[in-house]
Amino acid sequence: MIIDGKKIAHELRQAIANQVALLEQKPGLAVILVGDDPASAVYVRNKDNACKEVGFYSEKINKPANITQTELLAEIERLNNDDSIDGILVQLPLPNHLDANQVIETINPEKDVDGFHSENIGKLMQNKPFLRPCTPKGVMILLKITGVDLVGKNCVVVGASNIVGRPMACELLNARATVTICNSKTQDLSSKLKQADIVVVAVGIPKMIQANWIKSGAIVIDVGINRLDNGRLVGDVDFDTAKEVASWITPVPGGVGPMTIATLLENTLTAHKARKQK
Ligand code: NDP
Repeated sequence: MIIDGKKIAHELRQAIANQVALLEQKPGLAVILVGDDPASAVYVRNKDNACKEVGFYSEKINKPANITQTELLAEIERLNNDDSIDGILVQLPLPNHLDANQVIETINPEKDVDGFHSENIGKLMQNKPFLRPCTPKGVMILLKITGVDLVGKNCVVVGASNIVGRPMACELLNARATVTICNSKTQDLSSKLKQADIVVVAVGIPKMIQANWIKSGAIVIDVGINRLDNGRLVGDVDFDTAKEVASWITPVPGGVGPMTIATLLENTLTAHKARKQK
């Protein structure tokens, strides 16, 4: 069965819009784009449009590529102190002269809707989550849709980045699954995958995971987004062959990707409600 992330994300966005319509004050999201990387500009535009669609207040802030660290931190402080803003997102990657880690740590954790601040990652690690990283959170929603109970399942996460692989492993652990995290140094990856009831791949190598590495009936979630020379988008899993082996599988595009924006909106709504309750 193919997991239709586009449809599930649309339903989630609709549910958020319904909640926003009942609020006195609209949740506000500020997205900062540094430089003019075309791919980042598309992501920022999509986020801005998604905000408007659900009725959020949205601020799209473009800064030149040569902005200094001090200037960027000052902009974040301004947004930290702006009451109309519930969520602050800095589009990554940043130009090399900027310290992304310091930028993330400067965002007020209560407005950290990407869920990357060490305070929010720490809460996830302790299984007391508040604002959860968007992509892994979206994957958990997709897994729920399958109706499969994660408790005690063997899960293999391929990729261990701070934004996807690590928090993904944490989410699965919090769901009481047994989790193996693999990276580029993992030995005999295929035999690890063969044991997995659930495979989540976030590596960034087109069609790296072959069907014959996957256990029959496994759930396969493909986070990878890779553009081939011919312009086509493909995932990290060889979808055409893997779909014959998997019980459930996400396509690329139309799988995890749309969920990331929907969960960003959900995080902004969560941040808004939490601030209003204070
Ligand atoms: P990173 O490059 O930050 O991390 C890649 C991870 O994959 C690293 O942990 C790396 O290991 C590991 N890796 C690399 N090669 C191998 C290998 N041969 N075997 C096993 N592990 C390997 O990437 P991201 O996590 O940022 O993104 C991964 C993919 O997900 C990309 O295609 C990206 O475009 C996509 N993505 C999609 C999103 C969505 O919304 N759908 C959101 C974010 C990302 P090591 O730690 O040893 O270097």
